[in-house]
Parts: sequence; structure tokens; C-alpha cells
Amino acid sequence: MTNSTLSLERLTTLENFGHSLQAQSHLYQPVNTEELAELFRQAKKSGQTVTLRGAGRSYNDAALNGGGIVVSLQAMNRILAWNPETGIVTAEPGVTLQQLWQHVLPDGWWPPVVSGTMFTTLGGCLGANIHGKNNFKKGTIGEHVLEFTARLPTGAEITCLPTKNGDLFYSMISGLGMLGVFTSITLQMKQMYSGLLNVHAFPVHNLQEQLAALMEGAPQHDYIVGWLDSTAGGKSLGRGQIHAADYLAAGDDPEAQKTLQVAYQTLPAKFFGLVPKNLLHYFMATFMINPGVWLVNTAKYVASLRRGEQRQAHAAFHFLLDYVPDWELSYGRGGLIQYQSFLPKETALAAWTEILTISQKRGLPSYLGVTKRHRPDKFLLSHAVDGFSLALDFKITRGNRAKLSAMLQDFDKIVLEAGGRFYFAKNSETSPETARRYLGAETVERFKALKHRTDPNHLLESDLYRRVFGE
Ligand SMILES: Cc1cc2nc3c(=O)[nH]c(=O)nc-3n(C[C@H](O)[C@H](O)[C@H](O)COP(=O)(O)OP(=O)(O)OC[C@H]3O[C@@H](n4cnc5c(N)ncnc54)[C@H](O)[C@@H]3O)c2cc1C
Repeated sequence: MTNSTLSLERLTTLENFGHSLQAQSHLYQPVNTEELAELFRQAKKSGQTVTLRGAGRSYNDAALNGGGIVVSLQAMNRILAWNPETGIVTAEPGVTLQQLWQHVLPDGWWPPVVSGTMFTTLGGCLGANIHGKNNFKKGTIGEHVLEFTARLPTGAEITCLPTKNGDLFYSMISGLGMLGVFTSITLQMKQMYSGLLNVHAFPVHNLQEQLAALMEGAPQHDYIVGWLDSTAGGKSLGRGQIHAADYLAAGDDPEAQKTLQVAYQTLPAKFFGLVPKNLLHYFMATFMINPGVWLVNTAKYVASLRRGEQRQAHAAFHFLLDYVPDWELSYGRGGLIQYQSFLPKETALAAWTEILTISQKRGLPSYLGVTKRHRPDKFLLSHAVDGFSLALDFKITRGNRAKLSAMLQDFDKIVLEAGGRFYFAKNSETSPETARRYLGAETVERFKALKHRTDPNHLLESDLYRRVFGE
């Protein structure tokens, strides 16, 4: 990581989270808004484009800028104000979800929407407008933002609320850092009466059951998520396990004072008390071939046949993937692609049956499948629908890269035909035509018009922007 000097000579190779894309950029890390404004002045003078970067946890090229400047917001990471009476917090954009929950939980609060990892920053979470396992109930993170301030590439500072600069409020959240930089964010937290959740786990035997369980379970629970064994075919296609979780009411947890403490939530440093967690991905790598994944998924499914109910700490339920540091490295040198499609409840079954069948027939099964229940939202570049999402992780090798890319483009056609949408934090294949079709030409034009207003010199550009919205 560079310091905050403004020399334009420091080239750094940056990657996406999936380690499948690399780009050389001049990397800067401002510590305050004055340095940020100075970076925009320098970029304009030198004719370079700027991409904003939080923790770089997007699976694709959203935070990459080959040949340009990347501005990491990670050093602007102070919590500016916290009111434990109202649960309202104001923070700089580099504050991570980990920092946030650790700050508010001891006072009995939790972020209303979190991603499957706690290492993301608030700026990145608003840039993509993340959803959690409670999207069907609480919407996206943007629905809990009371106000934000942003620095525009023109140097102007603006404040946005749903009722003030509303058009920028609903487009900068979801706008992938292409309209301006969030510099402080005010969010409403959710009150908690325990550091634990009641978690119910049960198996589903095929895709139809999987989707029905999400559909029927969602109204009854605070969170719901499905694991999908994407190596199982035939009558078992789409089988897996559902986890549904509920908050505890006041008085339900006799040890609430203890379970609300950060130390109680912290994930253990060793697996089974023995193996240091940071070595686990080497062990996992030995299974990351088609037969190995089939074996692991089959064993996981068999183990899931026993229904279970347990109390689990918030951090363990939400951030399961963080248990294994660098787990993505187990995919090997080529890295991984996550393909997430969002489908209306009426068409999801047929479309994903086709997608899963194709991936198995072509010998390119996904190694991890995750399903969720969603509701639509008002943000401009929204990915959500009244239906479900399926996220599929694919291993990339030198031998399969072209085949995989062609298959994912075939999937895009199936999803578009079924009235589905995509998520700019995940997919790396989305083409301009695909984006225009699912967002609608009017939305794309509106986004470009807003960009022209906030960034008339087109300083803010990323590899993703050029790929999807470039002229
Ligand atoms: C293991 C894992 C699990 C995940 N689970 C989920 C999930 O459950 N739900 C979900 O929705 N997503 C999920 N994601 C995706 C992740 O939440 C998003 O990609 C998020 O944007 C990453 O945050 P970041 O801080 O790393 O941002 P980055 O990846 O660095 O940036 C994301 C976008 O935000 C922009 N940006 C960054 N900072 C600012 C700023 N200050 N102002 C304006 N724009 C800015 C960037 O330019 C970029 O376009 C997951 C990712 C991983 C790796």
C-alpha cells in the first residue's frame, strides 16, 4: 500500500477478490477529504481516470482501473459519531463492517444489513448497495442510510438524503463509485437483545423444495439462506440445506450481557482447536477438483439430513466464510468467478434447472451454490427482484477459461429470457447489451446523464465501467 503522497509514479498490481483479474494502477490512500480533492485535481491535470476502492472484495473488476489511478479509502476509517440511545452511527467510508459491528454490539445494536464477509467497507457496501440474508425483509443497505456526504470529482461537497438530492441518493448508492465519493455515511442500526440468533437447519431434496422453502420460510424468519449442492443431478438437482434464523426477544437470553460482547463473537483462531485457520486453504485446495468437490458436497448433504436447531453468535451465522482466511486461494492460480443471477419467483425454477443442467453437462459444475430470497428496491442500478438469487462459484483454470466464459454468456441469455437481473459486485461477464436489457435503456441513459452532471470530465472510471457502460 502506498502512502498519501501525490507522486503518479507508483504502479501497483491490484486484483479482484476472485484473483481472476489483474490490473496495474497508481495506488493512493488519502487520509482526509482535502487529499481526496487534491487527487482529483492531479488526475484532471494528468488526464488519468480514477477508480475508488474499499477493501477490494468485489468478485469482479468494480474496483480495478488498468493504467489509471486507484484511490483506496481504507485510511479514512473513523467512526465519527455513535448514539447508543438511538442506534444512529456516522462513519467514514473506509470503516469495515467488522469495525462497525464491534463498535455497536456491546450497546445492543447490529448493522441491519451485512454481506457474507465482514471485511467490506461501508463505502464499498453503498457503492454496490449490498444485500444480506434478510433482503426479503430489510431490503438493501441503502434502505438504512439516513444521510451521506459525498465529494464530487468537480470538488463540490454534497449531502444526500432520500428527501434532499434524492436523485443522487438513489443513484450514488448502487452507483459503483462512478458519480462521486462517499465521505461520511449515517446509518440506522438494528436493536438486539442478545448476541445470539436461533438458527434452524433442515435439508431440501431438490430445487423445487429449495425455492419453496425460501418462499414459505422468509415471512416467518428474520434471515433465510440456502446452500445448494451444484454437483447433484437428476431428481436431486438443486438439493441442499436451508438455514433460517431469528432474533431473540428481550429476556430470551439469560446471558445477554456476555453474548453481546465482542470477545464472545470473535471467531476462533484454530479449527477444531488444533489447526491454525490460516493453513486451512492449503488443505481445502486438495479437494478443489470436480471429483473432490462432489465428495465434499455429498458428505455435506448427508450430514445436513439431520434437522437441527441451535443458538449461534451473530458473527458466526453471518460471516461463515471468514472462518477460513484466504479461502478463495484454495481455487488455485486461475482464481474463481462468482456468477449470481436474480430471478422472479415465477421463472426461477425453470431457468436454474436449465443452468445447473448445462453446467453439469459441460463438465463445468459450480463448486459452491448459495440461494436467497429477495424483494425489489428503488435504487437506480438495482439487482434485486421479487424472487430469488442463486450465486454459483466456478473455478477458473487455464484450460477452461474460454469454455467457462462462453457458458456464463449462455447463462446470461437464459436469465434475460426469464426476466432476471445481475449484480455488479459479482459477475465479470455482463456485457453492455445484457446490462441495457435488464436495467432498461432509460435507466442506463439516466445513469449516464447523472454522471455527466456530477463528473463532467469523466474522471471516475473503472474497468467495470468501461466494460459495461463505455461508449
Ligand atoms: C466472501 C464474500 C461474501 C460476500 N457476500 C455478499 C453478500 O452476502 N451480499 C452482497 O450484497 N455482497 C456480498 N459480497 C460482495 C461485497 O459485499 C461487495 O462487492 C462490496 O462492494 C465489497 O466492498 P469493498 O469495501 O470491498 O468494496 P470494493 O470491492 O473495493 O468496491 C466496490 C464498489 O464500491 C465503490 N466504492 C468503494 N468505496 C467507495 C466510496 N467511498 N464512495 C463511492 N464508491 C465507493 C468502488 O468503486 C466499487 O465500484 C461478498 C463478497 C465476498 C468476498
